[in-house]
Amino acid sequence: MKIKSLKGTNDILSPKINKWRHLEESARRIFECYGYQEIRTPIIEHTSLFKRSIGEETDIVQKEMFTFSDNANRSISLRPEETPSVARAYIEHNIDKQTGLAKFFYIGPMFRSERPQAGRYRQFHQFGAEAIGSYSPYLDAEIIALMDEIVKTLKLKNYEIQINSLGCGNDRHKYKKRLAKIAENKPRLISKLCVNCQRRIKNNPLRILDCKNPTCRELMDDFPTPFDCICEKCLNHYEKLKKILKQLKIPFKENRFLVRGLDYYTGTTFELTHTGLGAQNAICGGGRYDNLISSFGGPEMGACGFAFGIERLLLACESENIEFKINKAKTVYIAALDEPSYEMSFEILHHIRQTGIQAHMAYEIKSLKAQMRQANRLEAGYVIIIGENELKSKTFTVKDMAKHTQTSVDKKELLKLVAKQ
Ligand code: AMP
Repeated sequence: MKIKSLKGTNDILSPKINKWRHLEESARRIFECYGYQEIRTPIIEHTSLFKRSIGEETDIVQKEMFTFSDNANRSISLRPEETPSVARAYIEHNIDKQTGLAKFFYIGPMFRSERPQAGRYRQFHQFGAEAIGSYSPYLDAEIIALMDEIVKTLKLKNYEIQINSLGCGNDRHKYKKRLAKIAENKPRLISKLCVNCQRRIKNNPLRILDCKNPTCRELMDDFPTPFDCICEKCLNHYEKLKKILKQLKIPFKENRFLVRGLDYYTGTTFELTHTGLGAQNAICGGGRYDNLISSFGGPEMGACGFAFGIERLLLACESENIEFKINKAKTVYIAALDEPSYEMSFEILHHIRQTGIQAHMAYEIKSLKAQMRQANRLEAGYVIIIGENELKSKTFTVKDMAKHTQTSVDKKELLKLVAKQ
């Protein structure tokens, strides 16, 4: 029986892998330009790390985590996202004591046991940024500008940035009380919500705003949103953020229902959506999480971040027919014509590779025609032909594949020639 890959997971092969590398390298360059440094955290963590931060009532924790017991019966989960791991590492390595502001970026696989569909997978990949150590709205603006810069650099057009504010802990408390009152006074309205939302309205009302049930969605228009309960300080922060974004000429829309599916968000939330993606239209999401570091036992620290889904970003680029300029490496192909010249050919191959140039050779003696076909497939710039005559004269025939010319050179000249390609 053939063993196949798991549902919702993908192999990424050449030539598509070149697009991935292009995206990742562009993102890396931009992250570094904004002063963010790479962090790599483990793919597995204690389950409690995610439960405590993402929230017991969220879809991710309730249905989507890949959780198992290790040999010592500890509950371990594959990371469904990266922010909790970065926050843990920040505290574990006492980074708050070393610098004022810590700015991280990451690239890697995440795991959620969701029903697979276009743009939604069980293993998917994200790159993201996390900045920890400031409450300034300029930090929110920097994070949104960084997100915007990534899609602008890729020349994406059909996207939109949505922003909202969820307010602080007190505001959330006010919101919770307001919904509890609705639950008390309008039992008939509440009974129309799905069973999950009837439970959520009491213990985690924000979650009703991102319920996928169509009836709940419709009913939400009659409910207050967290923005209706925000205090003056949070409102000022939000207004300042809008002012900065306008100053930076970053267009945005306000969406009062944008609560994001994770409990740790406070204040600003945002999302970048794309029109070419159908139902799974969010490419990037993020926001502030000012209480997360302290909830993990660290100091009180303002923080803000985002995560891009790489698969969706690629789908968006493909929907706009964006061509990636992939720098093709210089390639040389060595064609050995017979057994005696193979040894020398292999040595030349080795020397060329040592100069940093990509070089190929067949592992068996084949006809020149077959080797030329292979060289064409590899898009080789030069083909070096080595046979009995070349061995005797210690000169090599070099075919320039673009110019369709042929010269004869010695070994020293050969290395110079291929380097000039
Ligand atoms: P989140 O971590 O839920 O805020 O998601 C951030 C981004 O990750 C989303 O905007 C998507 O682009 C991507 N994403 C989340 N879940 C999946 C998934 N199951 N498959 C593919 N991409 C995903």
